[in-house]
Amino acid sequence: MELPQPVRALGAVEGGQALVELCRGKRVAVLTGAGCSTESGIPDYRGEGTRRRAKAPVQYRAFVSDPVARRRYWARALSGWRRFAGKRPNPAHEALAALQCADLLTGLVTQNVDGLHQEAGSHGVVELHGALSEVVCLGCGDIGSRHDVQRWMEQHNPAHLDLSAPMAPDGDADLDEAFERSLASFLVPTCRLCDAPVKPHVVFFGESVPKTRVEQAWSIVNAADVLLVVGSSLAVYSGYRFVRGARERQQPVALVNLGDSRGDAHATVRVAAKASAVLSGLAKALCP
Ligand code: NAD
Repeated sequence: MELPQPVRALGAVEGGQALVELCRGKRVAVLTGAGCSTESGIPDYRGEGTRRRAKAPVQYRAFVSDPVARRRYWARALSGWRRFAGKRPNPAHEALAALQCADLLTGLVTQNVDGLHQEAGSHGVVELHGALSEVVCLGCGDIGSRHDVQRWMEQHNPAHLDLSAPMAPDGDADLDEAFERSLASFLVPTCRLCDAPVKPHVVFFGESVPKTRVEQAWSIVNAADVLLVVGSSLAVYSGYRFVRGARERQQPVALVNLGDSRGDAHATVRVAAKASAVLSGLAKALCP
């Protein structure tokens, strides 16, 4: 694939104007990542400051095959969930909902698992990596509520709840070595129907995105004139493929991202500024 000349990253004002010009009168597909939710207080993986301290997330194979890895995951998630679940949409989510309401989007695809787009009023959101508000049984496939699992875990593991632990991405929490030593006594949640282990209904590292979800996302991207990516390093291939696909079809790609991303060489417009400011400006300029 022949790449366009790399474009310079623009600041909020100049970049915001370039973005408005690119999107005016066009149908836009939106792909969001963790950077869309940092202004709601949910950390990303690869932003300034998080890159160095982020722990390696649990791998799918370890979670399904190793009871200790599973116990560690749930023990950490017990403390991370309450604050994660209490987060609210920020102006970036709200601006995207307004753009969709004004019928300017072909749809919204997100790599996030926090449900904040739907909470802000977006509909038909394709959640590429699933939803942290649900759990799936590894035995019978039953889908249950993460809130119910949380209630069960808090009842059965009161000594393990540490609400002072720093919040980590994906509803996780950073916990210390003493916590690691106490893991043996942690009771892990199981399926309400068949008692098999449950897993958050999200795509773990090492797991594939379901084919139907990828197809839904492609139909949103292919129906658009412009692909707008917000707050993603595009380090994960499941998001990056849409940027590559758009460029292969000569579709302009706009990136709103603090810092570098794997999509930079494919971009028509790059805005290196906070998503909330840039998207609020875009919605103000384009929504009637
Ligand atoms: P990432 O952490 O790899 O990249 C986020 C990017 O957003 C970084 O380049 C960062 O500099 C930028 N950014 C941070 N705040 C921003 C802001 N206010 N405005 C504009 N840009 C900002 O995230 P990713 O590419 O989405 O990949 C991480 C994976 O981890 C995803 O697949 C996702 O499933 C998961 N994740 C989800 C959440 C969530 O649901 N909120 C949070 C963390 C990680």
